[in-house]
Amino acid sequence: MEMLDGKLVSQSVRDDLKKKVEARRNEGKKLPHLAAILIGNNGASETYVASKVKSCEEIGFRSTLLRLPADIPEETLLEHIDILNRDSDVDGILVQLPLPAHIREQQVIESIRVDKDVDGFHPESVGRMVQGLPAFLPATPYGILLLLEHYKVETKGKHAVVIGRSNIVGRPISILLNRNDYPGNCTVTVCHSHTPNLKEICLQADIIIAALGRPEFLTADMVREGAVVIDVGITRMPDPSRKSGFSIRGDVHFDSVAPRCTYITPVPGGVGPMTIAALLMNTWKACIAKDTN
Ligand code: NAD
Repeated sequence: MEMLDGKLVSQSVRDDLKKKVEARRNEGKKLPHLAAILIGNNGASETYVASKVKSCEEIGFRSTLLRLPADIPEETLLEHIDILNRDSDVDGILVQLPLPAHIREQQVIESIRVDKDVDGFHPESVGRMVQGLPAFLPATPYGILLLLEHYKVETKGKHAVVIGRSNIVGRPISILLNRNDYPGNCTVTVCHSHTPNLKEICLQADIIIAALGRPEFLTADMVREGAVVIDVGITRMPDPSRKSGFSIRGDVHFDSVAPRCTYITPVPGGVGPMTIAALLMNTWKACIAKDTN
């Protein structure tokens, strides 16, 4: 069993970007600039955004963090996005989800300019991804591809089972693993909360992507010998022994599943850091795309 070390691969992506940013600086070119919008005081969102902004700073990207109150009217939020859309220095815009209940998520996603949509959630970005056209890929699925690529995990002709069909993880990774490219060329089965024979399907999988948000859901009896297991889950569990008061659990029962696998991602330190690396890659691409315009 080999660990797919997201922390390590993420660091290598960042080191590479840092060198490229340094070269741009020396050439007097514009530096990549990510603008993040954080609404309200959701603890997990705060942590994610802080980590994204910190990562930008570490590699020499510019970053702007816009903190807005939880009761902000949707219209005011859209005005803020419009300002960032028109700011030529800003290359990428992300609005941290989830949003307060009174704000329509789809309205917000569609208000971001497609060429600044570094989260890859805009319907046009998704449509382009589905058709295999150049597009910003959603960060978590893109991070998974980078990880598989780094470890040269064979995907062609494999049966990939994706558990979860959300717009941010399950559905896009199922499309990407199915494309005619590397990583890809898998035969993909997408399972969800209404799939009756999940265990039976998982037992046929060469690659399992667990993205359902149920801690330690995937157990050894659901995984065949030699499988590749990618654990996307992040669930905060109360843990008084930790300073933070919680610990993070994945969707895979790691201790029992790992011995059966050829490759497996840990949680934390697997897909999580890769998601940030992918966001940085998207922001870099958004910036350099302007060089030729
Ligand atoms: P979601 O709640 O939007 O979607 C969950 C999906 O799982 C749904 O499609 C649902 O049908 C399916 N599902 C739920 N229970 C199921 C069951 N018992 N059997 C089969 N399918 C079931 O969640 P999401 O936003 O896709 O996130 C999934 C997990 O990934 C969460 O733990 C989330 O925190 C984590 N996540 C991690 C990262 C990262 O960077 N590592 C990024 C995004 C999400």
